[in-house]
Amino acid sequence: MDDCISLGIGEPDFDTPPDVINQAMQDVLQGYTHYAPAQGDPELLRLLSRQLSRETGLDILESNLVATPGGMGALSAALQAVLEPGDEVLIPEPYFPAYKAHVIMAGGTVVPVPTTFDTGFTLRPQDLEQAVTAKTKALILNSPNNPTGNVLDAETLDALAEIVRDRQLIVLSDEVYDRMVFEGRFESIVTRPGMAEQTVVIKSCSKTFAMTGWRVGYAFGPEWLMPQMIKVVNYATTCVNSPGQRAALAALRMDQSPFIAMAESFQRRVGLLWKRLQEMPGILCHRPAGSFYLFPDISKVNPDSKDFALSLLEEEKVLVIPGAAFGQSGEGCVRIAGTVGEEKLEKAMDRLQRFVHKDQ
Ligand code: PLP
Repeated sequence: MDDCISLGIGEPDFDTPPDVINQAMQDVLQGYTHYAPAQGDPELLRLLSRQLSRETGLDILESNLVATPGGMGALSAALQAVLEPGDEVLIPEPYFPAYKAHVIMAGGTVVPVPTTFDTGFTLRPQDLEQAVTAKTKALILNSPNNPTGNVLDAETLDALAEIVRDRQLIVLSDEVYDRMVFEGRFESIVTRPGMAEQTVVIKSCSKTFAMTGWRVGYAFGPEWLMPQMIKVVNYATTCVNSPGQRAALAALRMDQSPFIAMAESFQRRVGLLWKRLQEMPGILCHRPAGSFYLFPDISKVNPDSKDFALSLLEEEKVLVIPGAAFGQSGEGCVRIAGTVGEEKLEKAMDRLQRFVHKDQ
């Protein structure tokens, strides 16, 4: 389609900074073309251990870490290491669709825990509690959230931690958007008392460093679980590609200002989109607290999110994702990704406004 503006896929439009690419290329020329240890490049693990310990206040040793093929690789390795056939995994809905596939591939059963627009899609502790059964093994948390932009606050994290601690559930805390929090500091459930023993934290270089194609992520978790996760990574992929791990090391080591500027740019774009959506009667939208997504309620215009998205694409050449793709709780909403420049975003919002107003 000519002249289509895609606010669809969650992929930063920024390229990997040249400093990262140059360092990775130099390392490749120096011989980083071989297998890396299954757990990860030792230098990368050492640096992560220091940085993550400083960030969380926890003692994260190299033995608590594993490098993975993106956050996706961490997610699948964690679920395969943890689940027995029939185990239930609680996932607040709407959720990143890959979660469901990974749970099924690992032999588990997805149990969605609905959230609603009225609460800004915040998971309510009482809803989580009600969804727990004798078969519940794990909970997947994703804050900042894809698709809703919700960020779990300290109080909610305390309450959720209490529930999962009492029931000894394993938490997979997907924190791939942790550098895109617009107000205050990012907080993780892993820092709550006792939670380091039952939480696997998933991080990724993809969005943080504009490195989606390099396929590097990492996870940290308790000593009792990590050897099993490393085994899965080992047999599934042997190791993460060596050049990618060197690039990750370069990105983590360098002056962070290009990445801070990127995160600020996402914040500005989200602000712009939110402001424009406020001006469109019939559309409701919470101001996202993080990520680069907005999840407006479009149900007054058209209650069928797929139909809305298809008509918008056909009539105005703007691509958004139907909320139903993220589970039943997402129906009536669409996901808009702020992954193009501000000028294009304004143009996309002009088109959306025309689309929304056409019958009025
Ligand atoms: N988790 C969430 C919530 C995501 O949105 C994504 C990608 O869109 C991922 C994990 C996986 O990203 P990657 O494997 O590139 O790190």
